[in-house]
Amino acid sequence: MVTFLAGGTGTPKLLRGADDVFDPAETPVVCNTGDDVELGGVLVCPDVDTTLFAEGDVLDRETWWGIADDTTETHEELHRLADAAGLDSGPRYLPNEAQTSGREIARWRRFSGVAEFMELGDRDRALHVTRTGLLNEGRTLTEVTRTLCDALGVERPVLPMSDDPVASIVHTDEGAMHFQEFWVHRRADPAVERVEFRGADAAAPTDAVLDALDAPVVIGPSNPVTSLGPMLAMDAFREALESTPVVAVSPFVEEEVFSGPAGKLLAATGYEASTAGVAEAYPFADAFVLDEADGTDLERPVVRTDTTLGDPEDGERVCRAVGEALETVGAEVT
Ligand code: GDP
Repeated sequence: MVTFLAGGTGTPKLLRGADDVFDPAETPVVCNTGDDVELGGVLVCPDVDTTLFAEGDVLDRETWWGIADDTTETHEELHRLADAAGLDSGPRYLPNEAQTSGREIARWRRFSGVAEFMELGDRDRALHVTRTGLLNEGRTLTEVTRTLCDALGVERPVLPMSDDPVASIVHTDEGAMHFQEFWVHRRADPAVERVEFRGADAAAPTDAVLDALDAPVVIGPSNPVTSLGPMLAMDAFREALESTPVVAVSPFVEEEVFSGPAGKLLAATGYEASTAGVAEAYPFADAFVLDEADGTDLERPVVRTDTTLGDPEDGERVCRAVGEALETVGAEVT
């Protein structure tokens, strides 16, 4: 078994094409849930969903979120209604007291569905309604995700990092906002002062995650702050990584990031915005996979290949490099 850790872009890209290298049934993926929001009463788990849709082969691979060729009739009607009523279309947080009442998993990230600030496709929404319905019936997020895997024909175990709430809150010069407001609505524009993982002190990885972390671990090219940060903020998660072989794939080529706000967030949290900064953020990583054009000198074993991901062949190539790095650190992949 080998376990992958995922946000919503890098690891799903890496896993596309991984099946010839790592048997999917024996290669669980642990997904970040710090990005999750409750929107209009339904729980949306962007990183879990990208993995589910990618593995179920329905992902929109232009955007790396949502379902390919989905319609957006409900979303558009929500905007028509709000416009007609003169309702503001920015993210509309529910009142403070509502942030901690009701379903615990959605704490500190509850938005009204009025003028929905994140676009949810119609088929995409059906998944969120099903997830939320099953949660309301009393199942855990882990159990619900297993059921959604079945519904989408996904063989790979997809594990939310925790069944407890952890909310990624970005503190900016314009105030605190949930990561999805910062990223989707504000396009990562405000200056970042710090990032908080609200709830992490009281949250724990699930038993399924702890079992998966007994195996060698691969950190795909992820945003170290907002995709890995929520996982690392849980003591038991970090401790598990310290006692198993870990290989990380850089989301940078030296100082050049492939996409997204990883550079800005690393710099704001005291790290260099580069492969060197990623290595510093992952002191428990035993080896790295870097791009062949990345000359960063790390004091840990490095395997180099072309780390540009897109097609299945790319995923397979980088997974072979990951396999080599695992061998270098003596990891037993059974
Ligand atoms: P998020 O949830 O969308 O922030 O996604 P992740 O944390 O999973 O991944 C974001 C990271 O993936 C970014 O920092 C990118 O630099 C990295 N990334 C995106 N495409 C590629 C690629 O083709 N190759 C590599 N090595 N990294 C990539």
